[in-house]
Formats: sequence, structure tokens, C-alpha cells
Amino acid sequence: MAHADLLKSLGLGEFNSGTYLGNGEWSKTTDAGLIEANNPSSNEVIAKVHASSEADYERMMERALAAQVAWRNLPAPRRGEAVRLCGDALRRHKDALGTLVSLEMGKIKPEGDGEVQEMIDIADFAVGQSRMLYGLTMHSERPGHRMYEQWHPIGLVGIISAFNFPVAVWAWNAFIAAVCGDVSIWKPSPKTPLTAIASMKICNEALREAGFPDIFFLFNDAGTELAARFVDDTRIPLISFTGSTRVGRQVGVQVAKRMGRSLLELGGNNAIIVDQTADLKLAIPAIVFGAVGTAGQRCTTTRRLFVHSSMHDELVEKLVAAYQQVEKRIGDPTDPATLMGPLTDQASVQRYLAAIESAKKAGGTLRTGGKVLDRPGNFVTPAIITGVGNDCEAVQTETFAPILYVMPFEELDEAIAMQNAVPQGLSSAIFTLNVRHAEQFLSASGSDCGIANVNIGTSGAEIGGAFGGEKETGGGRESGSDAWKAYMRRQTNTINYTDALPLAQGIKFDF
Ligand code: NAD
Repeated sequence: MAHADLLKSLGLGEFNSGTYLGNGEWSKTTDAGLIEANNPSSNEVIAKVHASSEADYERMMERALAAQVAWRNLPAPRRGEAVRLCGDALRRHKDALGTLVSLEMGKIKPEGDGEVQEMIDIADFAVGQSRMLYGLTMHSERPGHRMYEQWHPIGLVGIISAFNFPVAVWAWNAFIAAVCGDVSIWKPSPKTPLTAIASMKICNEALREAGFPDIFFLFNDAGTELAARFVDDTRIPLISFTGSTRVGRQVGVQVAKRMGRSLLELGGNNAIIVDQTADLKLAIPAIVFGAVGTAGQRCTTTRRLFVHSSMHDELVEKLVAAYQQVEKRIGDPTDPATLMGPLTDQASVQRYLAAIESAKKAGGTLRTGGKVLDRPGNFVTPAIITGVGNDCEAVQTETFAPILYVMPFEELDEAIAMQNAVPQGLSSAIFTLNVRHAEQFLSASGSDCGIANVNIGTSGAEIGGAFGGEKETGGGRESGSDAWKAYMRRQTNTINYTDALPLAQGIKFDF
């Protein structure tokens, strides 16, 4: 399908409003800056988006606040029904939205479709969750008293998302927040505004058709001024931020200053350990998928590989052979034959080259990759580097590109210590057939990451689990398990059904 037809099928054109104001209305502002949505395969502009003005922001906020007052009183299972309709609408638009994700972000089409599938999956999950916003009942220490806790909507939820998961991250937050009784406001990455607008149109139209009120709002910032104001806005009790540790650190501090809550999903520096018993039939595809998938631009990308010294050379050789197969299939991410698409922009290409140079200066050997393709777009070849130490600056840094550092180890203790010795703590994995090694890796003295896997790689997390990481990854948890609690406020209630009032600490008044 030609780009123009694809855009049209999703309600987009050459110029698009970047602000959803509620009541079916998109802002008509045209003087607050223009955001160009770029195709990273060609660096050509796909379409343009009018950024939001301060006045737009205020109007949208007022509407969102009013919407929340109504939404929070709707029974949670009814809210679930609204999210179910969004999931159904996304099913109908999966192919087109998946293609747009692929076109605008640069991930290959199955990954673009997979991202929309994650939106659908989290919608289904949220529908079930809408009937399970459970609180506990406690036994009171006072006679004739009942004590329990309940969970209320937190209010407005601000969502700031990264370019690499341009739509799924919004759905993880917005659908769970919606069943919790919250209204959300989204500020997407300026690199991926079109997929954001398309997702909003699909979901908001589904809600309006069924007579539900507005619960999803959107603004797009030409710079970072409105985003910074958003973070400081005391009307928003929760800011859910997904992005780099550099920006997330600022956001966390700003939100803490106003005593708001933040949910931070930041950078990763994920490792796989391959011990001497590992089944390489499983390990090799997992490493290649983890390191090369989305051209190394996932927060869960495998960046470090610790291999038992007895298998190091054999595994590197096999990985180099596999990488050279992938190299032959780098190209247009919307082409079904492509295995790896481009980096997001030229700045990322420069960071990729600089990291490789830095690793080489630290004694590393480039075993494969390290090239920029001579064609339009931001294409590089996936790189494997051996001979560097875990403490080398390049290895310690999350470079958002397909670079894998391979390091040997002798004892598992040493491998676990190295895997933990980075500032980030998102995802980790071990390939082993040794049950002692697997359990040690998962134990309290094992991996320090939010995600720890056995015989499955670092990326491709399922929505059913809580997703997030420790240390500089920010500590937030989203998606499944009890992550919904972040979007609600907890209230403890005590009810006295007697005619006596026992005061705490046995205090008695004489009146
Ligand atoms: P980024 O930090 O550059 O941008 C993220 C978002 O923050 C964008 O929407 C951006 O416009 C916004 N932003 C920039 N300055 C801001 C400010 N001063 N105030 C408020 N918002 C501001 O990140 P990116 O390059 O888009 O994404 C890549 C990074 O995101 C990587 O580090 C990756 O690991 C991380 N990431 C983490 C997860 C996770 O779940 N842990 C998921 C996806 C991406």
C-alpha cells in the first residue's frame, strides 16, 4: 500500500493535528511548531504534525479533569467494557497500524504487528483486571470493628513514551489506568507522532461510537517545554515515563519535588550467561534475536554475553556466522524478507560508531559488523566485539544499537557478579541445563534485574508479568501481575459497629 493510502486508512494526512482536546475535537493550532515524522529507512518525511500550544495544553487539561470526575464513578467492569472495545478496534486495524509502526519507527513488520498485538493483549488483560481490583480485609484489634482496604482511581495519569515502542507502552499504561478509573494524557516521542495519533483515533472513535466519555488525551511537543510543564503539573498525580535514564532521572526528581508519583521505565544493559552445559540450539537464536532484534533498539536488547571459557571461541564463531546471514537481510523494515531495519536517526549511527571505536581503544576486537551501509537511511551492520572487560566504558553504557560484547568466565559466581556490575538492572538470562546454576541465578544472590530468565533470552517479555527493572532502570513496574496498583490510591477503612469508642493506646478522657 502506498504511504498516502496507508495514512488515509488510519485517518491521517499530510498535515495532522497533534492535540486531542476531547469531545471528538482535534486542535486547529498551526503556529506552535511542526513535527516531521521521518522514515528512518530513507530519512524522508512521511507526514507532518502540528505541535500543541500552551493554550491547547490548558484546554486539554480542563477537559481531561472534567472527564475524570465522570469516569471514576463508572463501575470498574463497565470501564473494562470500554477497554474491550478499544482492543476490538485495534484488532481491526492491526495490519495498518503495525505497518505504520514499521514505517515510522523502523522495526520490521512482524515486530510492528507484534507491538499492536501487545496493545490488544493488554486490553484483554485489563478487561479481566477490571473485575479484580482487589483490596484486603484485616482483622481489627478492637472489638466490634471491621477493617479493610480499597483502591480508588488516582486521577489523571501522564504518559511520556519513547520512540522504540511507540504504541505498546501507551497501551500498557492507558488501558490499565482506564480500568482503574483514571483518565490519561499522552505525550509521545517526537520521532513517532503519527502512530500515536492513529492509536488515539482508533481507540477514541471506538469509545465515542459506544457512548463512552473521553478517557484518552494527547499532546505533541515541538521541543521539551510543554513536556517539562506536564511533568511539573500538580494536577497530574502520576507521571509514567518511559525513556532514557538521562531524561528519566530529571523527570523523577521533578515529580518528587512536587510530591507526585512517578513510574520510571528507563534504560537497560542486559546480559545473557551461557554456561558449559548450555544447549546452543536454544542459546544462539535467543542471543541473535535479543541482540539484533529491532536493530538493538529495545530496552531489553542483549548487549553483553558471558560465555564459559570452554565454549567461548565456538560460540563466537557460530554467532559471527549467524550475524553474517542477518547482514544479508538488512533493509526496508516493511519488506517481509527483511530481518533487521534501520537505526532511528543519524545521531544513533554516530553513537554506534563511537561505541565501537571506544571498545576498540579499550582493547576490543571487532569480530563482525561495525559498518554503515552505503544507502539512504540509517542502516548499520550488527557488531560483535570480543576482548573487552565488563568495566570498559562502552560496555557499561547503553548504546541504542546492535552491538554485542562477548566476555569469557570460569565460575558462575564471576559471571553473575559481572552481569550485575552495571548501573542498569532491567533484563537478564542464563542458558544452562544445570539446575544448581539456574537456581543460583534466580536466587537472592543471583541476578539483580527486574527480569531474570532461564533458557529464554532477555527480550520479548509477556504482558502477564510485571515489567520493569532496578537501579538506573528506574524501579517502575508496568503491565501485568499487580502493576495496576501504581495507577490507584490505597485507602484503609475502619468501621466501628458498636456503641463504644476504644481509643488507641488505651487513652481515656474524663468527659
Ligand atoms: P528519550 O529519553 O530521549 O525520550 C523519551 C521521552 O521523553 C520522549 O517522549 C521525549 O520527547 C521525552 N522528553 C525529552 N526530554 C524531556 C523533558 N525534559 N521532560 C519530559 N519529557 C522529555 O528516550 P528515547 O530515545 O525516545 O528512547 C530510548 C530509551 O528509552 C532507551 O534508553 C531505552 O532503554 C528506554 N526505554 C525503556 C523502556 C523500559 O520499559 N524500561 C522501554 C522502552 C524504551
